[in-house]
Amino acid sequence: MELYELTLSQAAEKLRNKECSSVELTESALKRISETEDKIGAYITQTPELALEQAKKVDQKIAAGEKLASLAGIPIGLKDIFVTKDIRTTCASKILENFIPPYDGTAVSKLKAQEIVLTGKLNMDEFAMGSSTETSFFKQTKNPWNLECIPGGSSGGSAASVAADQCFASLGTDTGGSIRQPAALTGIVGLKPTYGRVSRYGVIAFASSLDQVGPMTKDVRDSALLLQAIAGHDPLDSTSVPKEVPNYSEFLQNDVKGLKVGVPKEYFIDGMDAEVKNAVEAAIKKYEEMGAQIVEVSLPHTEYAVSTYYILAPAEASSNLARYDGIRYGYRSTEAKNLHETFIKSRSEGFGDEVKRRIMLGTFVLSAGYYDAYYLKAQKVRTLIRQDFEQAFQKADVLITPTSPSAAFKLGEKTQDPVQMYLSDIFTINVNLAGLPGMSLPCGFTKSGLPIGMQLIAPAFEEGRLLHAAYAYEQATDWKTRRPSL
Ligand code: GLN
Repeated sequence: MELYELTLSQAAEKLRNKECSSVELTESALKRISETEDKIGAYITQTPELALEQAKKVDQKIAAGEKLASLAGIPIGLKDIFVTKDIRTTCASKILENFIPPYDGTAVSKLKAQEIVLTGKLNMDEFAMGSSTETSFFKQTKNPWNLECIPGGSSGGSAASVAADQCFASLGTDTGGSIRQPAALTGIVGLKPTYGRVSRYGVIAFASSLDQVGPMTKDVRDSALLLQAIAGHDPLDSTSVPKEVPNYSEFLQNDVKGLKVGVPKEYFIDGMDAEVKNAVEAAIKKYEEMGAQIVEVSLPHTEYAVSTYYILAPAEASSNLARYDGIRYGYRSTEAKNLHETFIKSRSEGFGDEVKRRIMLGTFVLSAGYYDAYYLKAQKVRTLIRQDFEQAFQKADVLITPTSPSAAFKLGEKTQDPVQMYLSDIFTINVNLAGLPGMSLPCGFTKSGLPIGMQLIAPAFEEGRLLHAAYAYEQATDWKTRRPSL
């Protein structure tokens, strides 16, 4: 067995037991990257020299008998949306193609404080807008399970890199499904924490009331470990919540007797992909066999989620992206003859089509005359969606749904039809609108060998409950033993 095949927690244990060094772990990951990256295309920027330097430091500490943090010396990748000091951060956009940030975001500083080894910055949809990583300015990331398929998005590089064993774990961000959907499509575990659980400071903003940072890992235990490292209040993010962070590993228990698992009837509709439906239904059965109690719940406003999201997210994006003006930082057009042209040409040349579409949509729904009809209305529907969940959690401890309506689709299949692409997140978007924690984990495969994911949803700040339910299921099944053959 190669070292790169280990999970994050297995690698950390080997390191602590001195069965391997951090340099060995890092060299193994780097070797895997060089063997597979031509096929996968997960990275926008690789940082091999830095990685080896960081690994050596950790090995020196081990040699000196110093105590290590739980993630020390482990190679981890970051979505290229995380601002990293002195390391190019592009958000997969031409407008930030040469942007070198002068500071680290909070999640990054927390990982650095643990002395992780950084493998590099991972590909994504431009400004995290997309469900397939096809809107990246730089490259197309491929799904390790089938190189003709997309890895999901927007955190597609983060997902593909973990699935292909190029790094032991990665961080992604999720505004409408961008951690959970690519996790589902690449057969890994992705957790979107409660809004406010993890600081957004130094995360390039897409839709600030929806964005959350979360772990993308090979298994549930690793998800708990990585969440532990990044969760908590941050004075630099006023929306991060000053609430104590529990010890997440304590929730990794097998026993789910009496756990009330809610099945929202609106998520199992006619016409949905039969293989996905069967896999999730089998998972529900499994929970029942394990002693959980299955209850039906209703989330009646589910059908409005996608429309609501595609008003609110673009509205916030249009405001957040106003800062890219060709003046302060980022791309500046060389064609402009005056200030006004500098704004227009820099933005026209610097942003891709999907980003422009969102800016136009957002500007429209916020404009005088349309604000009440669209933006304000969508805010009200958002409240109804949140209340649906409050009702459902009166009856259930966690909810179970499919993560994505289908397994990975072919490259190019949906690029010409934005609405089809937007529907990829039909089961995940609600969770962001309600600010709740949600998690995707493997629950089967299609006949053609593509992974299928199921989603668990819990009340706010009950990430522990998600980890518990996910861990018990993972232990009772063996999906995670299957790996893509690259
Ligand atoms: N696919 C959704 C979108 O395009 C969600 C993206 C995300 O979560 N960042 O907006």
